[in-house]
Amino acid sequence: MIQLTPSHLQIIYNHAEGAYPEECCGILLGVASGSNKECVKVITTENAWNTQDIPDLFINQEASRNRRYTIAPRDLMEAQKQARQDSLNIIGIFHSHTDNLAVPSEFDREYAWQSYSYIIVSVYEGKARDVKSWYLDETHHFIEEVVRY
Ligand SMILES: [Zn+2]
Repeated sequence: MIQLTPSHLQIIYNHAEGAYPEECCGILLGVASGSNKECVKVITTENAWNTQDIPDLFINQEASRNRRYTIAPRDLMEAQKQARQDSLNIIGIFHSHTDNLAVPSEFDREYAWQSYSYIIVSVYEGKARDVKSWYLDETHHFIEEVVRY
């Protein structure tokens, strides 16, 4: 279970709708105890897919930012620093799927990290329609978790 506030959700929706038709992304800071997570702060980040901000590995791949996202290492480090200052942890990542379901892609699964929650917002025709959250099990497959707000 991941607990957000209505204003956290609003920040995520606004970021997702503003980025449409590209995917948006961001970082969730909060506290985790067992499988329960409480979000305290939402950090919106740039979608660095296919930009100079990310390792060569990712650059010039055919998929566009309408179908892929990545968070620049610089933004992750900044979020980590902020989390430490506020005695929080990075508890998850959010991103949007545009004109697509809030279900992780195979690419999302491959690049996901254990213990993080992955919130996905689906945006259809520029309007956020649905939000779901996912985490990895021991076999590196996604399981859906409840989002409360
Ligand atoms: Zn995705």
